[in-house]
Amino acid sequence: MFDKILIANRGEIALRVIRACREMGIASVAVHSTADANAMHVRMADEAVCIGPNSSTDSYLSFPAIIAACEVTGAQAIHPGYGFLSENQNFVQIVEDHGITFIGPSAEHISQMGDKITAKETAEKLGIPVVPGSAGGVPTVEDAKKVAADMGYPVIIKATAGGGGRGMKVALNEQEIENSFRTARSEAKAAFGNDEVYIEKYLQKPRHIEIQVFGDGQGNGVHLGERDCSLQRRHQKVLEEAPGPCITEEERARIGKICADAIGAMNYRGAGTIEFLYENGEFYFIEMNTRLQVEHPVTEAIFGVDLVREQIRVAAGQKLSFTQDELQINGHAIEVRINAERLPNFAPCPGKITQYHAPGGLGVRMDSALYQGYSIPPYYDSLIGKLIVHGRDRTEALARLNRALGELIVDGVDTTVPLFHALLAEKDIHTGDYDIHWLEKWLAANF
Ligand code: ADP
Repeated sequence: MFDKILIANRGEIALRVIRACREMGIASVAVHSTADANAMHVRMADEAVCIGPNSSTDSYLSFPAIIAACEVTGAQAIHPGYGFLSENQNFVQIVEDHGITFIGPSAEHISQMGDKITAKETAEKLGIPVVPGSAGGVPTVEDAKKVAADMGYPVIIKATAGGGGRGMKVALNEQEIENSFRTARSEAKAAFGNDEVYIEKYLQKPRHIEIQVFGDGQGNGVHLGERDCSLQRRHQKVLEEAPGPCITEEERARIGKICADAIGAMNYRGAGTIEFLYENGEFYFIEMNTRLQVEHPVTEAIFGVDLVREQIRVAAGQKLSFTQDELQINGHAIEVRINAERLPNFAPCPGKITQYHAPGGLGVRMDSALYQGYSIPPYYDSLIGKLIVHGRDRTEALARLNRALGELIVDGVDTTVPLFHALLAEKDIHTGDYDIHWLEKWLAANF
């Protein structure tokens, strides 16, 4: 096992990893930008190294700064968290070339799943059902028209290099395709430096269901059921829950086995998420994330396992601490993402926290790097906390969420908390009756 791990991240996820390290008796190294000198992860880690100025390009994304910090502190492994360098195959390769362990999958697996067209091809070969779509990239408007006409409208044009919901455009009919195609391409070029796009059938009322998987890198794969992340704004998740309110035990076992077998067959190492759209009882693969996800705590809650600990174990060459049969679901968990954003437009709202009080009590977990007097810098993501509740069933979890949100105090900046209070007053949230478009429609009507 490692003696010391460097965490190449900030905010709540850096704390999450430090906590796992501490419970395992492993020393932790925080890295930070100058803007984050007073951040909680810097205070909580055993050691901290300043790796550069405010801009993430020169700090949290700087390969040489992070590798130098490992060498200076003697850290043997790097945990990347999510975002930043977590899915950067070049970084992984360079880390390994320096004799440092990357806590995550191999550069090869990241690259297979990083480009969405290759990911779909890989998934199909592994027997995973995919969304019907173009065979590879679509280079011209004429090709796009032909593909869409053959497939039937509506279609969605997506960036091969996409992520974070960018570079995606829907075309409802032939009149829209030219404009959507050009917009998707220019957005993709601007966001990812790569304007290749592909086309998929646009599913009209799907839910977003994702399967948590884990591989030991030695041919064994398991799944930890699904998360339902259908409540989205601009293709970004807002609330996540596990198990999915509409997934039966048989469906879970069927799609779970397909995913676990694929992970085993790939010799995949570490945590991963296979994302699907789910409509009329069918699952359609959209992408795989080769990292720990923001919403991993809802899975931890219902299975009673520590996913970061498992990541560290398999990176060190150890076995998973559970088998598929030992993984049993207990109750229901819900996570809400608390962002420093001003409604109704969700504009980022950085600033100083004048008062902070985290909720507590049975079945409540608050993952946040906030503290009273902390100034949220304007340079990074607006996620400032995740409130996760666990109950014996969905009804209890929703009541607990309502109670915990009532206890939470975050003063000094605007947050997305009022959104969740308003959502909890909606019947559809209680019945679980919503698809991926529900939230946008509801926001348009209510905010
Ligand atoms: P990103 O990597 O940018 O997050 P994804 O491929 O994971 O992109 O898709 C994000 C979201 O976009 C999905 O959860 C869903 O809401 C929507 N989406 C993607 N593909 C389709 C599709 N074929 N039909 C309908 N909605 C889609």
